[in-house]
Amino acid sequence: MEIAIIAHDGKKVDMVQFLNKNIDILNTEKIKIIATGTTGGKAVNAGFKVKKMLSGPMGGDAQIAARVAEGKTKMVLFFKDPLASHAHEVDINMLLRVCDVHNVPIATNEASAQLLLNAIAITLQS
Ligand code: PGA
Repeated sequence: MEIAIIAHDGKKVDMVQFLNKNIDILNTEKIKIIATGTTGGKAVNAGFKVKKMLSGPMGGDAQIAARVAEGKTKMVLFFKDPLASHAHEVDINMLLRVCDVHNVPIATNEASAQLLLNAIAITLQS
């Protein structure tokens, strides 16, 4: 199952902590992680195997949206920073829309991301 992770700059530390907290769920053969470029780099530095797309502002969110549309990415964990403005806001909104179009779960904060991962853990066990 392919899962995308994205974290805005103000949330990257939180994302790495979240990944480490969920290492048992994420470091299984059944899960493949993809990420926007900078987020992916942080995850790789933390020891995770991640396929990196372009950086978000350079089109990484759009690449992930394309994979959602193609049926490749099945879940998106997006730590958005609601207190910052983003040059690529249109790409972010496009990703949210494409997930809705294709009924793909997308979490936009840590609490919802944790609930989605917990659900995946149960699904993968059974
Ligand atoms: P980044 O992109 O991981 O390359 O910083 C995230 C984003 O801003 O969408």
